[in-house]
Amino acid sequence: MTKWVYRFGGGKADGSADMRRLLGGKGANLAEMSSLGLPVPPGFTITTAVCTAYYANAKQYPDELAAQVDEAVAAIEAEVGNTFGDADNPLLVSVRSGAPVSMPGMMDTVLNLGLNDITVEGLAARSNDPRFAWDSYRRFIQMYGDVVLGVDHYLFEDQLEDVKQSKGFIQDTDLTADDLKQLVAGYKAVVEKELGTPFPQDVREQLWGAIGAVFGSWMTERAVTYRRLHDIDARMGTAVTVQAMVFGNMGTDCATGVAFTRNPSTGEHAYYGEYLINAQGEDVVAGIRTPQPLTVHMANGDPSGERAMELVMPKAFAELSAVFDKLELHYRDMQDIEFTVQQDKLYILQTRNGKRTARAALKVAVDMVEEGLLSPEEAVLRVDPISLDQLLHPSLDPDAERKVIAKGLPASPGAVSGAVVFSADDAQKRAQAGEAVILVRTETSPEDIHGMHAALGILTARGGMTSHAAVVARGMGKACVAGAGDVSVDEARKRFTVAGVTVKEGDIVTLDGGTGTVMEGRVPTVEPELSGEFGTLMAWADKVRRLKVRTNAETPEDARTAVRFGAEGIGLCRTEHMFFDEDRIVAMREMILAADAEGRKAALARILEHQRGDFVELFEIMAGLPVTIRLLDPPLHEFLPHTTKELEAVAAASGLSAKALKRRAMELHEVNPMLGMRGCRLGVVFPEVYDMQVRAIFEAASEVFARSGATVTPEIMVPLVGFARELEMIKARIDAIHSEVAKETGRELPYLVGTMIELPRAALRAAEIAEHAAFFSFGTNDLTQMALGLSRDDSGKFMDLYQRANIFERDPFASLDIEGVGELMSIAAERGRATRGDIKLGVCGEHGGDPRSIHFCETVGLEYVSCSPYRVPIARLAAAQAALSTDSSEPTRAAAE
Ligand code: PEP
Ligand code: MG
Repeated sequence: MTKWVYRFGGGKADGSADMRRLLGGKGANLAEMSSLGLPVPPGFTITTAVCTAYYANAKQYPDELAAQVDEAVAAIEAEVGNTFGDADNPLLVSVRSGAPVSMPGMMDTVLNLGLNDITVEGLAARSNDPRFAWDSYRRFIQMYGDVVLGVDHYLFEDQLEDVKQSKGFIQDTDLTADDLKQLVAGYKAVVEKELGTPFPQDVREQLWGAIGAVFGSWMTERAVTYRRLHDIDARMGTAVTVQAMVFGNMGTDCATGVAFTRNPSTGEHAYYGEYLINAQGEDVVAGIRTPQPLTVHMANGDPSGERAMELVMPKAFAELSAVFDKLELHYRDMQDIEFTVQQDKLYILQTRNGKRTARAALKVAVDMVEEGLLSPEEAVLRVDPISLDQLLHPSLDPDAERKVIAKGLPASPGAVSGAVVFSADDAQKRAQAGEAVILVRTETSPEDIHGMHAALGILTARGGMTSHAAVVARGMGKACVAGAGDVSVDEARKRFTVAGVTVKEGDIVTLDGGTGTVMEGRVPTVEPELSGEFGTLMAWADKVRRLKVRTNAETPEDARTAVRFGAEGIGLCRTEHMFFDEDRIVAMREMILAADAEGRKAALARILEHQRGDFVELFEIMAGLPVTIRLLDPPLHEFLPHTTKELEAVAAASGLSAKALKRRAMELHEVNPMLGMRGCRLGVVFPEVYDMQVRAIFEAASEVFARSGATVTPEIMVPLVGFARELEMIKARIDAIHSEVAKETGRELPYLVGTMIELPRAALRAAEIAEHAAFFSFGTNDLTQMALGLSRDDSGKFMDLYQRANIFERDPFASLDIEGVGELMSIAAERGRATRGDIKLGVCGEHGGDPRSIHFCETVGLEYVSCSPYRVPIARLAAAQAALSTDSSEPTRAAAE
């Protein structure tokens, strides 16, 4: 016979904490606490297997269930000495849902089940408190009517208001037993009117009604949506826990409360929570009465400290703190506990690992190592890497009011407020005058770089997680909300409209790049605090991780930030970003638009100076750490002049006519630039461009050596290679230029030549490409774009729908498509290693900063991941978790419930 029902109570239990899959989180923890000898009212849990069987069998319960429930009810009766439905001494129970992972959106709780017109009298006589009995009954009808029978709760509230008004009462507590009796009659009439049948008086019918409601709530739209959004398997099912009631509302020696064993917002090792005297659970949540603090310490000098539980109910509080300590020691994690005090006796109704802020998670983890509860490795697994973001950027003050006007993609974290501007020039002008500005564009282009630099935050109406705005903003550590599709930007009239709101130049808005929200006006923020615990935990993480963490950086500022955050080198220096400065772009345009190689060389000679200077600075900042420099990659059109003014500037510098330049620009125009003259194709077609860059790299390395004696080993990286021959040709020129510079400087300089793997063909032909490459760096932005045939700039338009339709589990540009793109990476790694056993492998697409993708990189055995500076600490922690995790397919779920 299958066991469908698991009992607990009286210091023993059929189940245990490790049975949450079968008993749900609540049921498993109640069983565990009962076995630990904690004061848990007796009860039983109907397993999640019943839920699964119920749905598999056209909503029929398994045959043996009814008998097992009857036996379990009898066991509760024996334990507490009451009888279910008994006129004199009735047993009352609570019925609660409990899935293996906590899931809001489902039926939560029905209290006081077992009351009817007869048992209410018994309860009144037994408790010697008719008011309490009738109050319990009316609460039960309201809760049961609402969550089980589906009667709108407003109808009950109207009744309550009517009675209070007719009596001139303000508070519920003013109602007398007779008032409540009248209210019960009113509530029952509401039910009968709404449903056409009377409120159920048979207590067993009540019980099965509540059990059915819990199982029914598993499939409500809200629950289904929640599961989809949180990756929860629908086959898991929910359990139902039925438990003897204890009462926090039987007098002033009774109370109910919610408590954390530590402070969930700061992590401070001090009890934290609230309680209410003479109240039932829902009163704390409903906010009808103001709960009081648990401890004097918590009140922090506030007069409410005088009403703290530790002073008012010292005996129950002493019991409670003993339970706190026992539970923490047992679960080795901060607990979130629900309790009730009935006539000065403490009962524990629930415990679970408490949710906490990133700051608290760090502090609790580090403290628990110091207290000997956890090992450093366990502490490393307790903190969600992504949550570190909260600590690295200013964040919105959680208590501040806000009016959200738009939503887009959370492209780059940080919370900032500033005056709205609509052009890069305006951004620069206002910023130079000391104003905080937010740059708003339909989408950004390389032309906007100076404005993005000047702005505190960037908002775009178009573009995805790897759009220009997103990538550049992350690199700069600026807040960015990208692809806010409802925002309509009128750049000419300097305004944007969204949801009926018009925001004009100079108006203040707030962006939260961590959540992708745009708010009207200024919302206060709080500064990041890299406390001691942060450093401690990161040091533990560094000790256990195998993957190295580099950064994607091209500006000195980014490189410095990344080093401060612990980067171990540069994995990607996108040299094209070094040309966007105003004084350089003209020379760059001159080079591109030159009529012939001679013209190109003249312009390149001017750029060479700048490039060399850039590299010298980067090499010095990175002080001997590896630096991977990628040769020019972007489609040429990104550099082309757009306006007549820009065209004239190039004409003036080059001596060519504006007309000729315009013609040349037209020639270079591409229908599909992402698949056109970009990457190494540029280097093949215009070799002098790469020659110049390579010379700048070697000359810079040589200059750094001359200045400081430091040896730099540049890693020269060729982008978008698809054919071994491309790399072979380019490498031959790199080697030749190296020889030239070595001759000129009289010094051999160490260097590596490698390639990015960004094309599916490159991944498949990795064996022959590896003959010319000392390293591969997976450019997973392009590899995703090319493998999925999905534009990284345009996919935002249907990304949401594709995720909702379960086609994409997540945005493949943010989190690696492990089955598809991941397989290409595995193939490339294997074939590359077959040719060259010691080939260095890394990743430098956006995925290098995503914990789930990092976990995959660990399984492929890459040497390093490279990510934007602000992601470096996240990657360090994620790499450590990946190294510690034994399961190869799933990242560690930090702070699992
Ligand atoms: C990539 O394609 O993953 C990459 C890092 O290069 P970029 O984003 O500059 O195209
Ligand atoms: Mg690329």
